[in-house]
Amino acid sequence: MVETRLHHGPARRRHLHAASIAMIVVAASACAAREEPETVRPPAPVPLRAEDVAVPALPPIPFADGPLRLDVAYPPEGGVVTARDSNFIFGSTGSGRASLSINGHTIQVKPNGAFLAFIPVPEDGVYRLEARKKAETASLERRVRVPQPVPPPPVGAEVLAGSVAPVGAYAVMAGENVQISFTGTSGGRAWLVTPWNERYPLLETRAIQSPANNAADFQIGVNPVPQTGGWSRYSGLVPAQVLRSADTTLLVPLVGDVGNVVEPDSLMERCAAASATGQLDQAPGCAALSPDTLRAYRRGRPFGAHIELVVGNDTALAMLPLNLAIINTERVGIVVDRAAQPSPDFRIRGRAGVSGPFHYFWPARTQLSIIGQRNDMYRVRLAPDLTAWVPAEQVQLLPEGTPPPTGIIGGARFTARPDYIDLRIGSTERLPYYVSETERGLQLDVYGATSAVNFFQYGSLDPLIARAGWSQPMDSVFRVNVELTQPVWGYHAFHDTTGAVVLRIRRPPVIDDDNPLRGMLIAVDAGHGGADSSTVGPTRFTEARANLMIAQRLKPMLEAAGARVLMTRPGEAFVELGARPQMATDSNAHVLVSIHNNAFPDGVNPFLNNGTSVYYYHPHSVDLAQQLQAALLNELHLRDIGYGRADLALARPTWLPAALTETAFMMVPEQEAALRDPAVQERIARAHFRAIEAFFRRRAAAQ
Ligand SMILES: [Zn+2]
Repeated sequence: MVETRLHHGPARRRHLHAASIAMIVVAASACAAREEPETVRPPAPVPLRAEDVAVPALPPIPFADGPLRLDVAYPPEGGVVTARDSNFIFGSTGSGRASLSINGHTIQVKPNGAFLAFIPVPEDGVYRLEARKKAETASLERRVRVPQPVPPPPVGAEVLAGSVAPVGAYAVMAGENVQISFTGTSGGRAWLVTPWNERYPLLETRAIQSPANNAADFQIGVNPVPQTGGWSRYSGLVPAQVLRSADTTLLVPLVGDVGNVVEPDSLMERCAAASATGQLDQAPGCAALSPDTLRAYRRGRPFGAHIELVVGNDTALAMLPLNLAIINTERVGIVVDRAAQPSPDFRIRGRAGVSGPFHYFWPARTQLSIIGQRNDMYRVRLAPDLTAWVPAEQVQLLPEGTPPPTGIIGGARFTARPDYIDLRIGSTERLPYYVSETERGLQLDVYGATSAVNFFQYGSLDPLIARAGWSQPMDSVFRVNVELTQPVWGYHAFHDTTGAVVLRIRRPPVIDDDNPLRGMLIAVDAGHGGADSSTVGPTRFTEARANLMIAQRLKPMLEAAGARVLMTRPGEAFVELGARPQMATDSNAHVLVSIHNNAFPDGVNPFLNNGTSVYYYHPHSVDLAQQLQAALLNELHLRDIGYGRADLALARPTWLPAALTETAFMMVPEQEAALRDPAVQERIARAHFRAIEAFFRRRAAAQ
């Protein structure tokens, strides 16, 4: 900790110096921008003021000398620690005069009694804390659940229990492959064996480290344990085929051919009986079964495919816990909002893979072509070589044989309104779509659509529209490009009552150069609140409270500059996550800023990784995020983690620029103490204010 702070000094000075130079460059380029509005300008940090430089980074931690009282704020009693190697533990001793050790490690106690340590996770899951202050002593045991260690090295051929994948219900298109894998004894040969005795090789791909080696990285003086035989991952591809596991607890795919033949058990019973009397060839449905399969069945093995691993003379078998279906003809489904109170703002959320960020947002009744399933997710075909994954429970399947949606685009038309311009794309069906942005442009792709557009008129329609055009870049994708004369402020995309796709382009507000916030509506979101007390610091100051204190100080600053403020969480009471961006959108707020302070996931070293960051989602919010990041760095001089794109609900509204700030880390004692300090809360609020003002000033320059 001490080393980190020593290194910070010179680095910080360099940072300030660089910022001063940047200010001069920005001043020059801003002037140029006014003359040449077409130029794409580089991002500009908020100009640094002389008084900022004089302000020390964070105030020193105040001294506190209460009675010795050990408190661990994290991890909680009985909590699950997801890191196996090292993790953080933080809390308070009650006194800045205390000394502390945890599991034999000496831990620095801060002047207010707080501590933060990053130490090996105890194998028995018990942190033993010993504190001392002169003659006083205190001790505390904190019990947590730690990850299961990697099992001891296998003896002979062994398939690690629970390691065979995939598990559950899968459906794939005919001709696709499915990857099968498992963990087993290193140095073997393995196959997937189908009930029809087809064998597909599964290749050893990589050795898995033994747990002793990982732990040794953090324990000085412990020699790595040499690896004597161990576990490896085996994997291979198997062509699409119907497989039905004997495990009746597994999900069965909802789409595709799931092998609706004879009950596996009764078929096997019949064939086994026929085999026993030498009449296997005559028994209906039994000809395809191999004698091996039947032998395996008689020994009590499952009917489905199984893994076979051979190491030396030893063989291990394990069943494949998979129900696999083949989709020969794609299924059609429609998006449904299953909430008790369906909302017009409902969107099913699609991803590029079964996990990862949300990428697509489609309203109820959108028609989807389903070409795959993985347990609770459906795969949707959007275009050749473009698919998305959506939650299956929000899709209602139409009867088999329903033809896939093939929307004919009959016309595209702009309609100008005082606050927005609608681009309406008439279609015979409710098709999925995707909106992408450039600084001054919007592109709308409608999937499954074929154009019958002959006319597309927009000339002299509206001063906001510079140019518009449509194209059919590939089969079943209809694309409209709209170039604006100003940077994108926001938009909505939805289906109207006829099923047409509407892209509603928001008209930017008219900004007064001298009073850029006058008349603007700013949505300020204090993150978390109520029962969602979020993260805490070592002395149990909550993030929700810190966020609220900053938000409440920001509000009067914005109002004094002529803005109206919408507080999405005005007090301690909880406000539902999804309701917050909706409030900002419904009230036509001009920007949304969500105020947070950060926490690390288990296993990350908080001493090396803490700092300030800001997140946005849509390109039209990048400049807001840049201004916030620059202003917060200029104000507090914490480490620059950077601004970046993140899939966060508060950053996702499309109708307005939105960004989420993570000023400091609750668990770092210096930063928690600073967040408690009203003067620092005021400085953080002021930095937010300056960034929002700078954002409007820059947008005014672009008008
Ligand atoms: Zn938060």
